[in-house]
Amino acid sequence: MMTSPQAHHPDLEDLRERCRSAGLRLTVQKAAVLDAICALETHPTIDEVSARVQQRLPQVARTTVARILDEFAAQGIVRRVCHSGRAMRFDPNLAPHHHLQCIECGRIDDIALPEIDEVLNGIKTTGFVSREASVIFRGWCRDCAPQGARERVRRKRPD
Ligand SMILES: [Zn+2]
Ligand SMILES: [Zn+2]
Repeated sequence: MMTSPQAHHPDLEDLRERCRSAGLRLTVQKAAVLDAICALETHPTIDEVSARVQQRLPQVARTTVARILDEFAAQGIVRRVCHSGRAMRFDPNLAPHHHLQCIECGRIDDIALPEIDEVLNGIKTTGFVSREASVIFRGWCRDCAPQGARERVRRKRPD
């Protein structure tokens, strides 16, 4: 599922360029991890990235993938997305944006909401220096939404 607008999802060349500017040597394993991150637009977990990498390179262990993802996060090539009670996920989209998280399958999609950015910017007037702010919406993705859940949400609307 594509959630629009998704303008900032980087392509493989963007990610390779980030590695080059960080001075990271792209080993075969690292290139495969980059590939997987780029192909999986669901903010993949370590397990999901490993599974993808192992389709091509079955000998690469999950711990190796985890180590590479750690290194990528430390170098600012991807960022960690951690929402309570869920496995760590990785996001190659470094631009400010918000998330839609499916409580059924766990996938996270990006969503750009400039109106909300404006509200969050209001925090500056308090003197607080905000390093990052993002809003997460929890619910059901298009694939998981059971009809019942949709109905319940609809009935809650005050109209
Ligand atoms: Zn889902
Ligand atoms: Zn994201």
